[in-house]
Amino acid sequence: MSKFELAPLPYAYDALEPFIDKMTMEIHHGKHHNAYVTNLNNAIAGTEHEGKTLEELFANMSKLPAAIRNNGGGHYNHTLFWNLMKKDGGAPTGDLANAINGAFGSFDEFKKLFSQAGMTRFGSGWAWLVKADGALKITSTPNQDNPLMDVAEIKGYPLLGIDVWEHAYYLKYQNRRNEYIENWWNVVNWDAVAKRFAEGK
Ligand code: MN
Repeated sequence: MSKFELAPLPYAYDALEPFIDKMTMEIHHGKHHNAYVTNLNNAIAGTEHEGKTLEELFANMSKLPAAIRNNGGGHYNHTLFWNLMKKDGGAPTGDLANAINGAFGSFDEFKKLFSQAGMTRFGSGWAWLVKADGALKITSTPNQDNPLMDVAEIKGYPLLGIDVWEHAYYLKYQNRRNEYIENWWNVVNWDAVAKRFAEGK
């Protein structure tokens, strides 16, 4: 039976310096994400859930054990997160830029609202930009939940997400989540977001 695997980062561990430091990336990917993959494989081994895709698991999340929810979400969210970042991120263009301006008024206003969603997520979790029935929405989820799960308050296809767990920023920013989020905008891979915008419904 095929197992979930930890893919290498699509760039070097120090590629996002100075905004996200090398040691944080090494621990975040090599330890935290790796543990989600290991624990997910252990949670599904020998059960009826072995061989299902993450999306299939998320659709029935409310009926599944917490270990699958936490580690399946952790695996999906982090795989997405690594691919939504790159050195020299830039800004959205084309259809995506138009959709953001249409939904939120301007790119600056979108950044403000998305950052607020990350700042006001109490404890550990994620802030998201999702596409739902063609509309763009900002939301946040606790722990390793995501908007693909049936338990999510606002559901949709995640286009952009930021990890606001302390492990994502504490080594460099300590308690200053606001500085982490502000600096993170420098490394958003808008080409990847635009690709998801085009494929999402
Ligand atoms: Mn994380």
